[in-house]
Amino acid sequence: MASWTQKLHLRRNDPDTSRLWVPKSVQLHRRPHWRPVTRGFESATAQLAAAGASGGPLPLSRFGGRPLVGYGGLHPEWRRPSCGHCGQLMALFLQLDERELPEAAPRSFGDGVLQLFYCVSEEPLCEAEAEAFVAFGDATLVRVVPPDAVARLQVGPQPVESVGPNLPSRLITGWVSGEDFPSHAELKRLGLKRSDAVMRALDRLFPASVDKLGGWPYWKDHVCYPHCPECDREMDLVFQIESAKNLAHTFGPAPCAYVFGCSGGEGHEHPPRLGFGWAYGA
Ligand SMILES: [Zn+2]
Ligand SMILES: [Zn+2]
Repeated sequence: MASWTQKLHLRRNDPDTSRLWVPKSVQLHRRPHWRPVTRGFESATAQLAAAGASGGPLPLSRFGGRPLVGYGGLHPEWRRPSCGHCGQLMALFLQLDERELPEAAPRSFGDGVLQLFYCVSEEPLCEAEAEAFVAFGDATLVRVVPPDAVARLQVGPQPVESVGPNLPSRLITGWVSGEDFPSHAELKRLGLKRSDAVMRALDRLFPASVDKLGGWPYWKDHVCYPHCPECDREMDLVFQIESAKNLAHTFGPAPCAYVFGCSGGEGHEHPPRLGFGWAYGA
């Protein structure tokens, strides 16, 4: 059966899996995902020049770079957050504007702009000391800036180089859709008993291990979701970040890091709770 996928010359993260035969029992767990199309800029000045040339604002959605924040004395409630462990300003890792998401994608964090901040301090090494690899620690923060605050923050010039550590910026200029199926281990957990060569072949192709919005998480070894502090349910994948790809940060030995979210279950909805970590499934 290994030759069945080999004949199609498919590998993990191959965007075209349309010719692939997938058993009905697995198809039930199909999920779409969207991969970001990105564009890098050498400097914040180059970004501003590009904005001027295009005659419009650049996308707010990005890996790294400058966050949309209050600065100086303006909008202190939305200023760049500090690390709860070392007190230094944190770096923006991911910013997603709900208005720039693909139309068909679920709005798992509601309206506004999602921001993921992470402490990149090496002295002390907050990533290890404050356990930035598990959700809800002191050295990471995921927040959503609501639309009215986004509008206020967008008025007036943002400083070219805002204070704080800024990773190289890659703007998200578009999205490419793809499909995901859960890993073999995850399917077993979902109650699917089937364990044969077809499943092992599918396991070599799915889920995608790249940067993506939605879909199934790519786990290195076992399946492991954090629990929602609000309702104790297992949180779901909102966005997967591939280590050292669009984002210039290596998450230890982990291939991916994850923004998880939860809005509760049917009849038990709550406002979206978001968390971030990378020591899951390893
Ligand atoms: Zn820190
Ligand atoms: Zn919940």
